Amino acid sequence: MLRTAASQSRALTAAAAIAAFLVAAAAASAQEATESKQAARIEAFKASVIGGVEARRKLAQVMNDTVFSFGELAYQEFETSKYLTAVLEKNGFTVERGVAGIPTAWVARWGSGQPVIALGSDIDCLPKASQKPGVAYREPLIEGAPGHGEGHNSGQAVNIVAALAVKELMEREHLPGTLMIWPGVAEELLGAKAYFVRAGLFKNVDAVLFSHVDNEFAISWGQPKGSGLISVEYTFEGESSHAAAAPWRGRNALRAVELMNIGWDFRREQLRPDQRSHYVITNGGDQPNVIPPLASVWYFFRELDFENIKKNYEIGNKIAEAAAMMTDTKVTRKVVGVAAPRHFNKPIAEAVQANITRVGLPQWTDEEQAFAKAVQRLVDGKEIGLNTKVKEIEVPQARPESGGSDDIGDVSWVVPTVTIRYPANIPNLPGHNWSNAIAMATPIAHKGIIAGSKVVATTLIDLLERPELVKEAKTYFTDVQLKDNKTLPLLAATDQPQIGINRETMERFRPQMRAYYYDAERYDTYLDQLGVKFPTLARTPAP
Ligand SMILES: [Zn+2]
Repeated sequence: MLRTAASQSRALTAAAAIAAFLVAAAAASAQEATESKQAARIEAFKASVIGGVEARRKLAQVMNDTVFSFGELAYQEFETSKYLTAVLEKNGFTVERGVAGIPTAWVARWGSGQPVIALGSDIDCLPKASQKPGVAYREPLIEGAPGHGEGHNSGQAVNIVAALAVKELMEREHLPGTLMIWPGVAEELLGAKAYFVRAGLFKNVDAVLFSHVDNEFAISWGQPKGSGLISVEYTFEGESSHAAAAPWRGRNALRAVELMNIGWDFRREQLRPDQRSHYVITNGGDQPNVIPPLASVWYFFRELDFENIKKNYEIGNKIAEAAAMMTDTKVTRKVVGVAAPRHFNKPIAEAVQANITRVGLPQWTDEEQAFAKAVQRLVDGKEIGLNTKVKEIEVPQARPESGGSDDIGDVSWVVPTVTIRYPANIPNLPGHNWSNAIAMATPIAHKGIIAGSKVVATTLIDLLERPELVKEAKTYFTDVQLKDNKTLPLLAATDQPQIGINRETMERFRPQMRAYYYDAERYDTYLDQLGVKFPTLARTPAP
């Protein structure tokens, strides 16, 4: 039987289709094989770096407790930076100091080639938050001294331990890539990250993993709860005179401050409810019988987006000018810090979430839970103890919610960035308070750091081994984040880091604080050095 041309061609097509199918199937199974091989490799690498973090528990505890004991205020993190850079240099990192004109800022690098991954975490502490760790009652180590009332003593331990575990693997497996470690200097003043960005610190960086202490194990993408801000100090200059004999000869700078504050407070009613603004009078004159020739007031203007931050800043400037006019004084202003509203990268956040789920929360002991509840009771926080469940990934809210700020926002607009919040503190504390320091040199912090470090290390593996993740992160950054949002510069070209802030306070307390620096050679833990039995739930009554 003769085949017709049509049936012949059908047969050929069918044969070709079968052949094509076989080729495709072979290719697919080859691809599947490659993919499963790659998945197994990533899995093995993650297991290896988790082991590497475990092996560095002691180093993490020593770094955490040491930085806790330094308790240094914004811009004065000299001991902290000296210590951390020494640890990094000892481990093969190259350190560049004095970054962006800030004496306590530095960047440490190791490795070569792409990708370049930057790990950041804050290092400064808070005024008057000195507190003995591990005891569920108020007891400053030194009355009035600064202390880690936010837990910024823990983040570099998280990052450095993760980096060392990953470095060890990269050396063994000859993996290309550059690790960069940097400190959030003066975060409590929103004082450094915008200057780091301006100095080009994040040029050629592919991703930033930022770590921040929390009581939850959590990650978010998009705009999280919170605000951005401009922090600015206004100084009014008048003329002194005898406040009783010749008050009419003076021009009262304190009155200008008061008028500015009254003006701003009256104006609040016409501002968006999302704004947050607050001020402290940093100089109110010298003594009542001298008409104050100089007075200063320090404002934070917070809002949800760049435009509204700038708008409120301009209103503040206008009110300051008006107060100066009313009092025949002169006003100058000095920007103390800025923080852009934050925006976190979706693909990286999703990778982090998978690693958080894998690592899980630390296993807290009954004693640690009892301690957490005792501290919560102490500050009238709800007595829920320590968190035991991993959170779902946090997605952007339909309507952004106002709150605090963090200058990691500035970094998040120049490079794909996420903030990994690791569970190293007790929930339901007031924040920016001595009670937030209580757990920060105890097993609660030590365990939380290890959990956080494992997530940083495993996410580093994702970024090193999955080039498509770095690409997706960039695509989200350019095609979603930068496309849908309008950014405005918050720093003027003339603004400079206010590195002199806190110098006098730190100089006043440092000699006393030195006696409390952690000596890791002599004592296993800082609690041992202080003679604290953990957990101490109540003050021992005097005999
Ligand atoms: Zn912080």
